[in-house]
Amino acid sequence: MSTKVRYSIIIPMFNEEAVIQETYRRIKKVMGMTGEAYELLFVNDGSTDNCAQMIEEYSFWDESVSLIDLSRNFGHQIAITAGMDYALGDAVVIIDADLQDPPELILDMIKEWKKGYEVVYAKRVKRNGESLFKKWTASLFYRVLRYSTDISIPVDTGDFRLIDRKVCDQLKRLPEKNRFVRGLVSWVGFRQKAIEYERDERLAGETKYPLKRMIKLSLDGITSFSYKPLKLAGYLGALLSASGFLYLVYVMYLVIFTESVVKGWASMIGITLTFNGFVLIMLGILGEYVGRIYDETKGRPLYIVQEVYGGKPQTVQDQQWVSANK
Ligand code: UDP
Ligand code: MG
Repeated sequence: MSTKVRYSIIIPMFNEEAVIQETYRRIKKVMGMTGEAYELLFVNDGSTDNCAQMIEEYSFWDESVSLIDLSRNFGHQIAITAGMDYALGDAVVIIDADLQDPPELILDMIKEWKKGYEVVYAKRVKRNGESLFKKWTASLFYRVLRYSTDISIPVDTGDFRLIDRKVCDQLKRLPEKNRFVRGLVSWVGFRQKAIEYERDERLAGETKYPLKRMIKLSLDGITSFSYKPLKLAGYLGALLSASGFLYLVYVMYLVIFTESVVKGWASMIGITLTFNGFVLIMLGILGEYVGRIYDETKGRPLYIVQEVYGGKPQTVQDQQWVSANK
């Protein structure tokens, strides 16, 4: 692309063939309204359906479309990260492929960005068409996260947001593996602004975030930004040993000063099981952290790109070469 790209739209997709054509059409329409240069970066996160082929085809006749084809499924957060590495725009927008995030909101984000905010995030005031379970667990998660972290991560806010080039460049400096992108965006700071919206129902297809992935994302969020779960072990341990000691004093009192014989193997087993349970839970929490440390030490790249389609240079190095030789 010869003109300087003003906006980069990152669209991660994992088996979204049912919606992707409509997503393309809606985003295209919105971006056309800006009257400025933009690029649509579709990141194929190892889809097994036809969505990547569809975008590849679009990229042949639409210069604004690029497809970054990852070599397998690396997960939503990594797909977004790959998009950021390739984005060239002065402002970068991250949006889901399933039209749950209304593309029309991008225009409002751009307005705020032009006022000088470096991060404009979209806060969900209402979620339509999602199960009660999903709404409750999501709401609980954001509140636990707010309680447990020292930086302020906005509640009820997903990855749908606009970030300035400066923020994107800073995010690219954070190499961590188990990424929780919205937390990282809060961590880098800058002037941030919320705009509110109602989250729509998925246009078609089903969620790619089953419970297991939601749990993984929550754990990534909490462990990346907080030591509180680890400290919990200390507090609980102190509490338990204090109450154990008090109980012991009471038992000794009974033995020395009263006639009653101390009985109760059943209560012993109850207490043993409960406390052993605590210990194992704490070991599990420790394991969550140790596993993540292990991931970091392996130093593997975050993702592997199989191919890039579209009017864009092939790799980050190529991009640097291109800009150096412009
Ligand atoms: N996604 C992805 N890789 C994955 C899972 C999801 O790129 O492993 C994409 C997906 O195609 C969608 C976005 O991430 O564009 C959000 O996923 P989804 O809509 O399934 O999550 P939900 O909105 O149900 O939380
Ligand atoms: Mg969705």
